Amino acid sequence: MRYYDNVVELIGNTPLVRLRNVTEGISATVLAKVEYFNPGGSVKDRIALRMIEEAEKAGLLKPGGTIVEPTSGNTGVGLALVAQLRGYRCVFVCPDKVSEDKQNVLRAYGAEVVVCPTAVAPEDPRSYYNVSDRLAREIPGAWKPDQYSNPNNPVSHYEQTGPELWDQTGGRITHFVAGVGTGGTISGIGRYLREASGGSVKIIGADPEGSVYSGGTGRPYLVEGVGEDFWPETYDRGICDEIIEVSDKESFILTRRLAREEGLLVGGSCGMAVAAALEVARRADPDDVVVVLLPDGGRGYLSKIFNDAWMTRYGFLSSDETGATVADVL
Ligand code: PMP
Repeated sequence: MRYYDNVVELIGNTPLVRLRNVTEGISATVLAKVEYFNPGGSVKDRIALRMIEEAEKAGLLKPGGTIVEPTSGNTGVGLALVAQLRGYRCVFVCPDKVSEDKQNVLRAYGAEVVVCPTAVAPEDPRSYYNVSDRLAREIPGAWKPDQYSNPNNPVSHYEQTGPELWDQTGGRITHFVAGVGTGGTISGIGRYLREASGGSVKIIGADPEGSVYSGGTGRPYLVEGVGEDFWPETYDRGICDEIIEVSDKESFILTRRLAREEGLLVGGSCGMAVAAALEVARRADPDDVVVVLLPDGGRGYLSKIFNDAWMTRYGFLSSDETGATVADVL
């Protein structure tokens, strides 16, 4: 018999897939690290496992304990999945702008979701930040991972994802491209690859227009999971050789092309990272190997990025770009 003892054993060791169609006219090899193959469907399973293991070792999380985190998305799923198998309770705090579908995914994994008003100042006791702090203080045995300051977020990538990429490319990787949210992915992988290659691998961050990483002020953008309006501790400010700014429109158009032309149904931050990777690959040498990390799958974005009406409403698609349908012919 050949089987895994539990789904946590499936975290990591995700495949590298060559992009063949969106790379038209590019001679360098462009490979995508497809993180939706993790059991919770995103790269965040990796940090969830590592943060929980280290909290157990440090005695911060004890049997029967409760994990409290302000998260509405992928990190919550990763934490809930690992917590469930280890008997911890999860309480996630999210702002009321988060879709009911996203809240329900967390509940489906057995987590409790506390919804806070978006329209209050951060110092208001009802705010997302204050409620999660208060719950972490008041629930007995509570522990707050805090992915924005927890060193085990980048460490999980330094110790696992980075070595996977070096091994999978046989040390031939020349450029690594990833979006920056907490910065854990790029800081951990970037440091490993820089050390393993003796400094020759170029580390390139992709950032939404308006975010601080590419010199913005935190101006709003629609791509989810990347960009910030502050500098998190988990981001190593010396790690990137270059940061490429990508617009919402470019991110979403490429996200749709990845589904239609590469068979990869992925999230908007993936389209953003690929847009940056293609820019890098266009200037690269033919024998260069550009690797881009795709953080999550596209199912959570069907009513937005993959919805023509939503795309048109925001001006990302003109009505003549939505394509002819069978109904037009009949
Ligand atoms: N894309 C998505 C969809 C994410 O959820 C995240 C995590 N916030 C990222 C990209 C960026 O990863 P990191 O936090 O490691 O910078």
